[in-house]
Amino acid sequence: MPLTNSNVILADARRRQYGIPSLLAGNLEMIVGQIRAAEAVAAPLILAFNQGATPAIPLEIGMAAAADAARKASVPVATILDHGADIEQIVIAIRNGTSSVMFDGSHLPYEENVRQTCEIVAIAHAVGVDVEAELGAVGGSSIYLGEQGPQASMTDPEQARDFVERTGIDVLAISFGNAHVVYKGTPQLDLDRVREIAARVSIPLAMHGASGLDSTEYARVIDAGISKICYYTAMGRQVSQAIHRFSSEADETTLIYHNIIATATDFFDEATRDLLHLLNSDGKAQNLHLNPMQSS
Ligand SMILES: [Zn+2]
Repeated sequence: MPLTNSNVILADARRRQYGIPSLLAGNLEMIVGQIRAAEAVAAPLILAFNQGATPAIPLEIGMAAAADAARKASVPVATILDHGADIEQIVIAIRNGTSSVMFDGSHLPYEENVRQTCEIVAIAHAVGVDVEAELGAVGGSSIYLGEQGPQASMTDPEQARDFVERTGIDVLAISFGNAHVVYKGTPQLDLDRVREIAARVSIPLAMHGASGLDSTEYARVIDAGISKICYYTAMGRQVSQAIHRFSSEADETTLIYHNIIATATDFFDEATRDLLHLLNSDGKAQNLHLNPMQSS
């Protein structure tokens, strides 16, 4: 199946009220396990390559592997450079076949975020690649919050409308109490803020730092207007536990690296199936609308 733009998959998710997981795919176990799950339950999927999370894998190799696997999948799969830091990284990802890029200028002063995002939109759109950008800082590893604390960094709905209009982006990542962390207790998500932003912009909205919520929360988040669910931390921890269990139970004849690869691949397959079901995206690869939403 041809590589699909993430905004196309997400527009269908917003129209039909389901969530699309964007899963970190830094190596072949992740890529193969996650696509296997999407094919098994007929769900669309987004595979994300994040250079910060997998510094051992060069961008040129990781991005190209994800894009190649997406093209060979029997369901619509998009690939995205997650938290692209600058134009150079974005261009390398595009040259290596990604369908979508994310530029994270949320730490920049507002006007500078607009200016750099516009530049990246011009480059990406010229070659049919869609762009996600972030407004308001999602706390945690890849973002610094500054002195004002998490509350002050939440996305302002009116600024979101202005940002989308001026930059022409295709997907907007917003901050409403979510963070790139292991949540201690229940995070206080401001779903009214999500609804306000969704009412002002017509493009799909992304939630970063979405793993570790109570399983009942996802339906509420999707109902409020989120379409893309970036999910990694919980899976990243659980796969390590699965490998640890396998290694401690294996005897000398089976404790060999290729069995660890198989254990990890099977883990990503099973965990992805559960997540696709939780987000109500299983079965949605059938009758998927292949029209993006217009940003203006
Ligand atoms: Zn993120």
